[in-house]
Amino acid sequence: MRQINHYKEKNVLVLGLAKSGTATADLLHKLGANVIVNDRSPLEGNEQAQYLQSKGMEVVCGGHPASIFDKRIDVVFKNPGIPYSNPLVELALQKGISVLTEVELAYQISEAPFIGITGSNGKTTTTTLIDEMLSVDEKSPLIAGNIGKVSVEVAQDASETNVMVTELSSFQLMGIETFRPHISVLLNIFEAHLDYHGTLDEYANAKARIFKNQTSEDFAIVNADDPQVMKLAEGICPALVPFSTTTKVEGAYLEDGFVCFKDEKVMSIEEIVLPGKHNLENILAAIAAVKLLGTSNEAIKKVLSSFSGVKHRLQFICDLEGRRFYNDSKATNILATQKALSAFEDNVILLAGGLDRGNEFDDLLSYLANVKMLVTFGETAEKLKRTATSAGIKQIKHVDNVEKAVPVAYEMSESGDVILLSPACASWDQYKTFEQRGDIFIDAVHKLK
Ligand code: ADP
Repeated sequence: MRQINHYKEKNVLVLGLAKSGTATADLLHKLGANVIVNDRSPLEGNEQAQYLQSKGMEVVCGGHPASIFDKRIDVVFKNPGIPYSNPLVELALQKGISVLTEVELAYQISEAPFIGITGSNGKTTTTTLIDEMLSVDEKSPLIAGNIGKVSVEVAQDASETNVMVTELSSFQLMGIETFRPHISVLLNIFEAHLDYHGTLDEYANAKARIFKNQTSEDFAIVNADDPQVMKLAEGICPALVPFSTTTKVEGAYLEDGFVCFKDEKVMSIEEIVLPGKHNLENILAAIAAVKLLGTSNEAIKKVLSSFSGVKHRLQFICDLEGRRFYNDSKATNILATQKALSAFEDNVILLAGGLDRGNEFDDLLSYLANVKMLVTFGETAEKLKRTATSAGIKQIKHVDNVEKAVPVAYEMSESGDVILLSPACASWDQYKTFEQRGDIFIDAVHKLK
């Protein structure tokens, strides 16, 4: 870890705890800052706040009182999930105080270079693929982000011989100042998180911040098939390395049944285990990133011929009497479910439903041609039923929850069917997290045995 004096004796407000806020506060304290911690949940039952208090930090809990600014605050680190409409964030910005996120701090202390991966969908999959490929090639990657530890924790153990492989949300990128990844990856831009960002332009611009400090010595891997991405990449400093599933580009592409990188055949597409065209995009982006670091084709092949998906992302569970079960609980929006459905030819039994965000499901209509049966649950059950009926799906069942959906789907299925949990909705109406929803699905599948 790089020892920095930047925060020594500075008054630093850490806003919002959870994993990222707690790790940030802890590190800033170690770096000699006077840390003030503020969290919305009351101190009672707030283990993270209690832990930080026991280490001697000032802790203000149970709300966001403006009185925190009665004393001088030099810088604010906010949990990425806290919106800019939070009163303390607004106050800090009015006073001209920097509002940062933990990835900025991770960058400041890291001795290792960064690969930063962003986009609306596919971040975790691509991050995992890059990590695994570098790992097989003994390039000592350290993965950070949604999977495993937050980057501020991981960066503390990073030496010059490591590579930080970091998934970055638009929320995190809003809070960077000097963060400069050696390799950036921008996968795609879809309408998402507009409740946080306001407009699609604002959201896209947040994503484009990943390029902002990169120089001509750095690389930007960009999706040549996504016009929004290419627009954002216009005129940026780093060397552009495009990837495309449709045309031959100066980076990673598909040709004659092979995955290629800059005129070199890396491996045959047939050997790839991960299903779905969308995953080919993630694969091309990952290959571009690791090839830039000199990874061997053997290492890439080894990973792609066995990797069957990150948990909860179109994850293959098992084949039971000819029925193949897939857990895509991470599909918390329509686009993700569209991608999942596109990965299968026919005979899909779709399990979907969840939190009602007020949207309709018309955008799913044209993707339902291969769905023979729908099993719904959660708040959006009725809306999904309407869409499925318009799509001409005859068999529609409504059940209470995911656990009950599995045996119902199995009973109605026959050999050759795909039973797919891809809810197209967030899980919070019935489950704590999409992970919990997916785990319940997996358990229910195993119970069938
Ligand atoms: P993220 O970390 O960006 O949320 P994940 O890798 O966890 O992305 O994948 C989430 C869901 O998004 C998957 O279940 C899949 O259905 C969909 N998805 C994955 N990669 C892509 C892609 N490149 N383009 C569009 N959708 C994708």
